[in-house]
Amino acid sequence: MINKLLIANRGEIALRILRAAKELKIPTVAAYSEADKDLMHVKMADESICIGPADSSQSYLNIPAIISAMELSGADGVHPGYGFLSENPDFADKVEKSGFDFVGPPGSVIRMMGNKVSAKEFALKSGLPIVPGSSGPIDENVHEEAEKIGYPVIIKAASGGGGRGMKIVYNPEELDGAIELTQQESAAAFGDSTVYLEKFLESPRHIEVQVIADRHGNVLHLGDRDCSLQRRHQKVIEEAPAMGIKEEKRQEIYAQCIEACRQLNYVSAGTFEFLYEDDNFYFIEMNTRIQVEHPVTESVTGLDLVKLQLRIARDEELKIKQEDIVLDGHAIECRINAENSETFMPSPGKILEYHAPGGIGVRMDSHLYKDYVVPPYYDSLIAKVICRANDREDARARLERALDEMYVLGIDTNLDMHRKLINDPNFINGTFNINYLENLNKEK
Ligand code: ADP
Repeated sequence: MINKLLIANRGEIALRILRAAKELKIPTVAAYSEADKDLMHVKMADESICIGPADSSQSYLNIPAIISAMELSGADGVHPGYGFLSENPDFADKVEKSGFDFVGPPGSVIRMMGNKVSAKEFALKSGLPIVPGSSGPIDENVHEEAEKIGYPVIIKAASGGGGRGMKIVYNPEELDGAIELTQQESAAAFGDSTVYLEKFLESPRHIEVQVIADRHGNVLHLGDRDCSLQRRHQKVIEEAPAMGIKEEKRQEIYAQCIEACRQLNYVSAGTFEFLYEDDNFYFIEMNTRIQVEHPVTESVTGLDLVKLQLRIARDEELKIKQEDIVLDGHAIECRINAENSETFMPSPGKILEYHAPGGIGVRMDSHLYKDYVVPPYYDSLIAKVICRANDREDARARLERALDEMYVLGIDTNLDMHRKLINDPNFINGTFNINYLENLNKEK
């Protein structure tokens, strides 16, 4: 039962969580770093508490500081948002051991899904389709396995994340070198040198399935999203539902995701991520948290996912049934970053002028305001513009109109890139895969 919620995150997602808590009349405590005292949600929360210096290792990633903040403020629940501690199983365990509620699944589930090898092993066992590859960490049979699945292959770090710890191998001569390099990089970045082998899919789309489950055995899927437009494995534009997937395939993958949740005793919101090629889904990982792109799903289902997470953490039962969930229309989200549009370098600084778009079908998730100073220490996401309409083309036209209305002066943003991208004929026609944006940048 959460009677007071600590928000252990920052920026737009902290504001998003605050809004959901307010609607449920749950008092909030904003946990913020020394660099973040002027964040909008810190001003809006019932209480706020500084948890350490700007460096996130000493604040947003500092487990003892966050637990102390809960004790000091009397908060009995914590929402980790995305990033930071949201997928740290030790944090989830510590919260529960301290007698508080963690808004998310149990630490044991986060731990299993956080390791790509154990996640894949689970996926295989539960009946999800996986990318062909080594059944566990690579061993002395790796050359044989690579021949069997066929080149190109990809070497991936079991503990990798954020698009790091991967190497594509096109021929047998490169295999040993690539393995060694990935092992070294992974040991340095993630403290674990375990790597595994997968078939490299050359032109898949990234499709993911949103699920939500309560503590009473109810599991629902909330449809899918296409997040193929990526730069350096970071999503740039997302939409719901994904285009052009056969209804039968769709229902089959939903049923498999629900079955996997049941076997996991999954609780809270979660996302199964797949690569999708030639009508086939291939599981790559599960995110055991709310995702940046959740608003597109909210826009087509009419559900508030963060509110549902909070209700679930309060032990409430989901009131909706699968048949009540009707996907209505189409939604597209653009991630607006404070960055230089040519170099992609972060562009922190003071917001001199700001206008947020509005009107029918436009949702703006942003913590920006005039005179706010974007600090240099964190992720450069400053706003998400989400448009919903009855069909994809109307949603796209609405987005074009909304992006035109928006302006941010004082820092560089990727607004122009988005304006161009949503007018790109391949975006308009939906003919793109995960390599599209990267190739487009190379052509420049
Ligand atoms: P991370 O946890 O770092 O996000 P993922 O396993 O989710 O790692 O992969 C991130 C991205 O890397 C995918 O969205 C896709 O673009 C690419 N990728 C991963 N595995 C493969 C594969 N087997 N074939 C082709 N691309 C892949």
